[in-house]
Amino acid sequence: MSDSTFSRTIRRGLGLAVLVLAAAVPALQAQEKVVTVYSSRSHYGAESVFTDFTKATGIEVKFFNGNANEVLERLKAEGSRTNADVFLTVDVGNLWYASNQGLLQPVQSATLEKVVPAYLRDPQKEWFGIAMRARTIAYSKERVKPSELTGYASLAEPKWKGRLCLRTSSSVYNQSLLAALIALHGEAETEKMVRGWVANQPKYFNNDTQLLEAIAAGQCDVGIVNHYYLGRLLQQKPNLPVGLFWADQQGAGTHVNISGIAVVKNAKHRDNAIKLIEYLLQPEVQSQLVAESYEFPANQAAKPNMIVGTFGTFKPQRLGVEIAGQYQAAAVKLADRAGYR
Ligand code: FE
Repeated sequence: MSDSTFSRTIRRGLGLAVLVLAAAVPALQAQEKVVTVYSSRSHYGAESVFTDFTKATGIEVKFFNGNANEVLERLKAEGSRTNADVFLTVDVGNLWYASNQGLLQPVQSATLEKVVPAYLRDPQKEWFGIAMRARTIAYSKERVKPSELTGYASLAEPKWKGRLCLRTSSSVYNQSLLAALIALHGEAETEKMVRGWVANQPKYFNNDTQLLEAIAAGQCDVGIVNHYYLGRLLQQKPNLPVGLFWADQQGAGTHVNISGIAVVKNAKHRDNAIKLIEYLLQPEVQSQLVAESYEFPANQAAKPNMIVGTFGTFKPQRLGVEIAGQYQAAAVKLADRAGYR
């Protein structure tokens, strides 16, 4: 065998080995029944829908939990070496950021496009809402009549001076609310509203539950919260004298946001990731998910939790939740300018 024939044989042999490996890798991946979820939805704990998914499919779900910043920083730092297949989080601000940083990949799924309403998913198909939350007005049933309220801007009226409670503007929930209002009404009108809130000398809180407790205790009469915090509190304290008012029903509708899910750009178990996402959006699974989280289902065929059902139906803002991401930075600056702590 001449040198050149020898090297050709070696090359052919190597080429064959590469081909065999290339064919074996997807087969190995298909066999590996695991999906890793990086989740900042940790305050809900391990939800039963994930253990049910494993029972139904044999695919093990591994979690890395942290707050949104921790999870996003880890995804960025790990890059192509990441074990993450799925990113699960609350608030579209976080999903929008992840997408913008190139951490996600688009998913073509006729199932998801059918069951998730268009305004609760990314037009670029990089993330999907699995549940919806409404950020609206809570009021004291003892000291406020619902007829005194209309929407977010009505909390700027002087009659609420010393009677308003707000969560701080560093909360992504408030940033997304302001971002949506900027998208709907412009910066000038939104800033006027926020300046009105600030002029009412609000009491500030770091979480929505404390804010609701403050209304119940008489520290203030109205505030803005995510609906599920009241749902959970009413489960513990059915007689809590706090009601929920659907904001802006005569106008643009109540601000809604999502718990959302996405396939990570460098996912090693992409098929399993998509299987998990499609599973979470099935009607029975959705009903179970929101029975525990007190959110609204993203799939309209599912039922809300009993207590949340008593809050009644409402008109949501239909501007597409991804809009909030685009105006997030403007919202932070606006809050700063207006003196909203
Ligand atoms: Fe929350």
